Amino acid sequence: MKERTLAILKPDCVNRKLVGKVLDCILEAEFKILGMKMVKMDAKMAGEFYKVHSQRPFYRDLVEFMSSGSCIPMVLEKENAIEDFRRLIGATDPAEAEPGTIRQKFAENKQNNIVHGSDSPETAITEIAFFFSESELIPNM
Ligand code: UDP
Ligand code: MG
Repeated sequence: MKERTLAILKPDCVNRKLVGKVLDCILEAEFKILGMKMVKMDAKMAGEFYKVHSQRPFYRDLVEFMSSGSCIPMVLEKENAIEDFRRLIGATDPAEAEPGTIRQKFAENKQNNIVHGSDSPETAITEIAFFFSESELIPNM
């Protein structure tokens, strides 16, 4: 069954001019882009997006990083999109990410790890709605 997931190209991806390369990886892996936009989050918005981590020691730095520059949220569609995208991006820490994954290839460290991907069907729904209304998404034929 086709499934949707939320991806975000994080500020390090944009600042390091890696958007084209990362998009290539995503498209070559057969994900369809239903929606995409450029967003500059403020600390309140980034804090809200990552509120599940609000008690974690890395939260403050994460919010600062995610609001430090533009990011590119996008809605991706594919069979098994959530799991497949997590596999494509690799482990949170690039040092632990499988060879060939986006984070292994491009990420600098555990915080500045290039890309976000939803981790379950429930989070995909709320994370997509965080950035996109249904009318902004173009169904894939
Ligand atoms: N993060 C961090 N330090 C950590 C764990 C996570 O800076 O020890 C950051 C990193 O940018 C990560 C984000 O917080 O992508 C969300 O963490 P999560 O554990 O949900 O990792 P993900 O689902 O992105 O792999
Ligand atoms: Mg996560």
